[in-house]
Amino acid sequence: MRDNASCDELGLRQAEAGPVSRETVPLLGDAASQSRNGDWPSIADYVGWAPLYPSSADPGFGSPESPSSFGELDIYPSANVDGTGTVYERGAVAVDEGLPLTDGAPAAPTRHAPPPPLPDSVVPADTEVTMTDAYVSRETEDPPLAMEARRAVQILNPSGEVTMPRPPRRRIISVSNQKGGVGKTTTAVNIAVALALHGNRVLVIDLDPQGNASTGLNVPHHAGVPDIYDCLIDGAPLDDVTQPVEGIPNLWAIPATIDLAGAEIELVSVVARESRLRRAIEASPSQYDYIFIDCPPSLGLLTVNALVACEEVLIPIQCEYYALEGVQALTANIDLVRAHLNPNLDITTVVLTMYDRRTRLADLVEQDVRKHFGPKVLDTVIPRNVRVSEAPSYSQSVMTYDPGSRGAVSYFEAAREIAVRGAEQTGDEE
Ligand code: ADP
Ligand code: MG
Repeated sequence: MRDNASCDELGLRQAEAGPVSRETVPLLGDAASQSRNGDWPSIADYVGWAPLYPSSADPGFGSPESPSSFGELDIYPSANVDGTGTVYERGAVAVDEGLPLTDGAPAAPTRHAPPPPLPDSVVPADTEVTMTDAYVSRETEDPPLAMEARRAVQILNPSGEVTMPRPPRRRIISVSNQKGGVGKTTTAVNIAVALALHGNRVLVIDLDPQGNASTGLNVPHHAGVPDIYDCLIDGAPLDDVTQPVEGIPNLWAIPATIDLAGAEIELVSVVARESRLRRAIEASPSQYDYIFIDCPPSLGLLTVNALVACEEVLIPIQCEYYALEGVQALTANIDLVRAHLNPNLDITTVVLTMYDRRTRLADLVEQDVRKHFGPKVLDTVIPRNVRVSEAPSYSQSVMTYDPGSRGAVSYFEAAREIAVRGAEQTGDEE
């Protein structure tokens, strides 16, 4: 089922989905079937896990024979835990304007898949890529966007000494936090761009129906564009929906369109609904060093798909009041997914975002988060910086929009830390 729908229509369909799923999956208890905000079906309604999950056909995933254990799984598709929606910096350019409504719009046009972007594995994975290898081009031949990328690299890393080692094997990182407006998309986009500018092959999967990562990377994501929905619901190959990011070499993206808004509900009745994304990634022959999955601000089936598909979770935490609120729910869910569906899942990275050094509060939050997560927290802290919030309105990352800004420099540093830590950790394991 794929169509354009207004919020009201969606609400109607969600209301319809409740009874349907109740018939097909066992309820996980009265408490679990309570909806968080009343408007949405309860998580228990559609996270029935066991009956629709062909465990025998799918070894390697957790046994779903005790679905009641998932009654604890705190999954709900509301936009924000406090129901207020995305929080914007005062005066910042708001890019999260909610779901674009296409009420009454005609059916999506026939779609033509772009040629599959199969990145060649030119450089062996264990090769250390220096800046000189990473992005060398001749100014006269470069289109303007590519020149901006080149300029960004020159400003961020003038001596070319800083390297971002390519990981020995592909790293799949979900950027997740069920709170909205904490910097998930900004972090995913900017770290991906920084790594790509330094020689890593990077794919960003936009798993949020709001499509902010697609906007930030300037990847078309209007109705009718092949998107991640096609992979999740229709089983389309990943490469058929992947687009190269213009102006940034080594960077690809899979957009999210409005269609994804219905996926949370439609996934309920799909076979192996928790592992659709994982299967799509596993089936792709493309070779990436990093895949970043930008999660929606909820703990619904889309986020579960991300957690099942990845090995690493990156949690951005905003240096604000209630910073740790909801993180416990997220970590509890990660524990459950690890126990039942993906034993390799781990929180590897925590990034402090929107740090305002003028406030004592930011300091306190930083101390709290470092105490809670220890060395998982990156040394680099991302400051609140107006350039970061302006960049998406120019369909750019801050790395290219203003590479000299504090925001860009911090994300550059954060990306370097992630690359170096990853190389060290993998080296330790071996
Ligand atoms: P999420 O994906 O968690 O909802 P976003 O990355 O979309 O959060 O960020 C929410 C808003 O905050 C956006 O308008 C974004 O531009 C802005 N923002 C994010 N990081 C910063 C920052 N370091 N400084 C200023 N504004 C920021
Ligand atoms: Mg986002």
